[in-house]
Amino acid sequence: MFDFKLTQPQQEKHPPIDVEQEGQIFDLVIIGGGPAGLTAALYASRARLKTLVLIGSIPGGQPANTDIVENYPGFPDGVGGPELADLFRRQAERFDAQVVQSEATEVDFSSRPFIIRTHTSSYRAYTVIVATGAVPRRMGVPGEDRFYGRGVSFCATCDGFFYRDKKVVVIGGGDSAVAEGIFLTRFAQEVIIVHRRDELRATKIYQERAFANPKIKFVWDTVVEEVLGDQTVTGVRARNVKTGETSIIDSDGVFVYVGMDPKTEVFAGQLELDEWGYIVSTHRQQTNVPGVFVAGDVQDPLYRQVVVAAGTGAIAAMEAEKFLGEYPQSEIDKVVSSSSDHC
Ligand code: NAP
Repeated sequence: MFDFKLTQPQQEKHPPIDVEQEGQIFDLVIIGGGPAGLTAALYASRARLKTLVLIGSIPGGQPANTDIVENYPGFPDGVGGPELADLFRRQAERFDAQVVQSEATEVDFSSRPFIIRTHTSSYRAYTVIVATGAVPRRMGVPGEDRFYGRGVSFCATCDGFFYRDKKVVVIGGGDSAVAEGIFLTRFAQEVIIVHRRDELRATKIYQERAFANPKIKFVWDTVVEEVLGDQTVTGVRARNVKTGETSIIDSDGVFVYVGMDPKTEVFAGQLELDEWGYIVSTHRQQTNVPGVFVAGDVQDPLYRQVVVAAGTGAIAAMEAEKFLGEYPQSEIDKVVSSSSDHC
């Protein structure tokens, strides 16, 4: 069914195979060390697949940047984001997944075994799971980074609870801004959605709900120029793009929803991406390249939850295992050894 013919990679252009890994071909290389990648590693290594995880330069995925995770089952009192990330990693390593703190900089999915390159090494694998996640787009204004975690948030589900009876500003006019704005009214006394145009991009049903919600107010044609505060956020400095008038909007929190950027640059031209840059997959987490699977936020613009990412990671690992069962290594090895295989 699949063409396992190898093309000869250009050795001189690329880093050599990692000395410790030389001669090895992994059953599975997982690219990404968040909940999706590490859950995939747990499932794969427990299934006795020879598994390597590239966890990136800042490991742990989005939970590692979250103070406390209260909606991951099994932790009735909540769990610190970095602690949860560490637990995921330890659980995967317990079953012998090899974890490398490095980022994939280039992949070649056109030949088999697949080749995954980092700044210093190259790895080969019969199957790959891409779990690189997505990062919330920043507004890029002063104060946004400084007050991140102290009033600036990119996740209402994670942090909304802290704004009971308070006033929050939500930036953006898409589905996320409006849906999360509605969600925030469960806690906050007042939610002010600041949008740069005079009409929303969000779907009509969200618009209707938001317009009907007495706790939500809209500030149109307005961009935020600065997040203000001392120890924590006290408000934003905003500018009306039509009149040029600036004003201060008092607020205890700022939720930024100006889009997400899936981390897929490395896969452009190798995997099918949708118009927003997310990796296209089937419900079995398969990409358009047989043997390459995908999990977590890099293929999910909708749910973006730790538990969902972990679930898709488990599915991807089980599908990789199934793929290897259908195409045993011995068969792949025959094809591999019949060509001069070095990269
Ligand atoms: P989005 O649809 O790209 O919306 C981003 C919003 O932020 C837009 O209103 C945009 O304004 C605004 N924006 C962009 N850059 C900005 C900046 N620098 N300053 C101020 N505002 C800025 O992103 P999203 O809402 O995260 O949604 C992403 C995808 O997920 C979409 O396909 C969406 O439909 C989907 N989604 C679906 C659901 C659902 O329940 N169905 C929920 C969440 C997300 P403009 O409108 O002027 O461009």
